[in-house]
Amino acid sequence: MNIAILSRKRDLYSTHRLVEAAKSRGHRADVIDTLRCYMNITSVSPTIHYKGNELRHYDAVIPRIGASITFYGAAVVRQLEMMGVFCVNDSVAITRARDKLRSLQLLSKKGIGMPITGFAHSLDEIQDLIKMAGGVPLVIKFLEGTQGIGVVLVETAKAARSVIEAFLGLKVNIMVQEYIKESAGADVRCFVVGDKVVAAMKRQSESPEEFRSNLHRGGMASEIEITEEERTMAIRAAHIIGLNVAGVDIVRSNRGPLIIEVNASPGLEGIEKATGKDVAGSIIEFIEHSTESEKNRATGKG
Ligand code: ADP
Repeated sequence: MNIAILSRKRDLYSTHRLVEAAKSRGHRADVIDTLRCYMNITSVSPTIHYKGNELRHYDAVIPRIGASITFYGAAVVRQLEMMGVFCVNDSVAITRARDKLRSLQLLSKKGIGMPITGFAHSLDEIQDLIKMAGGVPLVIKFLEGTQGIGVVLVETAKAARSVIEAFLGLKVNIMVQEYIKESAGADVRCFVVGDKVVAAMKRQSESPEEFRSNLHRGGMASEIEITEEERTMAIRAAHIIGLNVAGVDIVRSNRGPLIIEVNASPGLEGIEKATGKDVAGSIIEFIEHSTESEKNRATGKG
C-alpha cells in the first residue's frame, strides 16, 4: 500500500514511528508536510498539489494535525476524502475533537460521564456559573487549549471571578469545570485504534502542587491496567466523536471514570515508551483491515 502521513516534520517521534511501522509491514510511507499541500477544488476530479507537482495516489492517509493548523489541516484532509482516499481520522471528526466544549456536548448527549462543565458568554452570569460547577476549587479551560496550556485551577471564589472576567474580557472562549480532587494529579490515557484500546498509561503530575498530568507539563507516564468500564467508555467516546484513532483522557473519580477529553492526534512517544507496545504497528494494521474490507465491499466479496 501507499500510505501518506500528513505531518509538519518527519523527525517527530510519532511520524518517524509510523513510517517505520508501515515500512516494516511492506508498505510505502511518505511524509507530506500539511502546510505545503495546496488544492484544486473542482467538481470534476479534485486534486492536491504538493511542492509543485500533483500529489500521487495514496491508498490511505494518516493525518497528524497539530492544534495550531487545525483549519488548514482539516481542509487538506477533506480534499483527500473527496478524492476517495481512506483517511484514518476524517476532517469532521478532527475539527469536532479540537473543540472541547463541542466534544463534551456530544458525549453528554450519549450519557458519557464527565465533570460538571459550564459555559457562558456574559460577565453577569459568572456567579451562577461558579455555583453550577460546584463552587471552588474549580478548573477553567480554554476551549481550544492543548498540552495543559490554558488549564487553570482556581482555589477561591474571588480568584475564579477575576480569572473568568479576565479571559472573557480578552474574548477567549473558556469553560468552567468541576475540579476532580480525588484524581490527585493523575489521569488515564487510553489509546484507541478502531474498536480496541491498544495501550493505556497513567500520567501523574510532577509534583503535588501541579494538578495537570500532561507529559508536556512534566507528568510521568507508566503502564496501567484499565477497568472494563474505562475500556468501554474510551471506545464509545472515540466513536461518538467519529475518530478511529484517538487518545481518550479519563480521570478516576469517586463516582467512577469521567472523560476529560478526546484527542484526534495523540502522541506515540509517551504511550509506546511507557507500555512497550507497538502502537504505530496497530494503526498500520487498522489501515490494512479497513482498506481490505472497503475493497471487499466494493467488489461485493466478504
Ligand atoms: P489539555 O487538552 O490542554 O491537555 P485537559 O483538559 O486534558 O487539557 O487538562 C489537562 C490535565 O489537567 C488533564 O490531563 C488532567 O490531569 C487535569 N485536569 C483537567 N481537567 C480536570 C478536572 N476537571 N479535574 C481534575 N483534573 C483535571
